[in-house]
Amino acid sequence: MTALLAAILAAVAPQGHVRHEGTVMGSSLEIEIFGPEQAVCEKALADARTELERLDRMMTDWKPESPLMDVNRAAGKQPVAVPEELYFIVERSLRVSELTEGAFDISFAGAGKLWNWRAADPPVPDEATVKAALANVGWKGILLDAKARTVFLEKPGMRIGLGAIGPGFAGDRAMEKIRAHGIRDACVNLSGDVMLIGKKDGVPWNVAVTHPRKKGENIAVLPVSNAAVSTSGDYERFFEKNGKRYGHIIDPRTGYPADACQSVTIVAPNLAFADALATGVFVLGPAKGMALVERLEGVQALIVDARGELTVSKGLRR
Ligand code: ADP
Ligand code: MG
Repeated sequence: MTALLAAILAAVAPQGHVRHEGTVMGSSLEIEIFGPEQAVCEKALADARTELERLDRMMTDWKPESPLMDVNRAAGKQPVAVPEELYFIVERSLRVSELTEGAFDISFAGAGKLWNWRAADPPVPDEATVKAALANVGWKGILLDAKARTVFLEKPGMRIGLGAIGPGFAGDRAMEKIRAHGIRDACVNLSGDVMLIGKKDGVPWNVAVTHPRKKGENIAVLPVSNAAVSTSGDYERFFEKNGKRYGHIIDPRTGYPADACQSVTIVAPNLAFADALATGVFVLGPAKGMALVERLEGVQALIVDARGELTVSKGLRR
């Protein structure tokens, strides 16, 4: 490159840049923004953070006062009017349930409470208890009324949890806030749920896909622009008992942790969908999961199965 060309490129290149590391929704958060002006980048970052915190308060199952918990408390009793975003996300969740034949199911939470990955020495619930809890799992028991904007859980024991789609949805909305400032190059990363627009240093952003068993190693680095990447794995939140690994993704059909995959990475146009689909494909397993991915327009996947074998969708094989 000539010196003159370099000087011209430097003059037209974005001047503003912010990089933020923090936590939100109980997980790590990283936001990077490039733009023409520093002040605009900073404002965009602040708006994105505010949005993430607002959505966290709406969808959390950690605090009793969230709209999500209102829905859970009213299970089997009455429909609950919810904020627009919560309605939207539940509706999207049901669509992904349909697409994955119930492998993705926010009502997993009816059985999910039997498992406590955070405990020091978590017990494995006995079969009868798991079976009984399954009566409270099933996405068809989540009833929506679009006009009244209500969510109703049909049975008293039903619960919903948004851990597999909430962060993705929040990431999408945070990116919308950033774009509203005219920003064209940005990355929002919620511990592995990543939304990227534009470029970094003139080339697509690089997203590293973590090796599910070898700490510090990657199985791939994907160049990505204007797309979302989400990974679901069994290596971040799990416990082991008698040589068996119990991960935090529940197979809604059995009530037990899904064990057909070590990790699933989905590339898709939006992060809510990528997040949810990664979880759904993780439950479906490599064969059914990849077959589904290949049927979907604009969606790619990397799947590491239970034996550590990697499969890659057609569009990523280059
Ligand atoms: P990560 O948290 O590693 O990004 P996921 O996006 O797959 O992983 O989300 C896992 C979380 O999703 C679990 O902690 C739980 O809250 C919820 N979950 C577990 N099993 C299911 C399921 N079958 N369908 C929908 N949500 C699930
Ligand atoms: Mg997910």
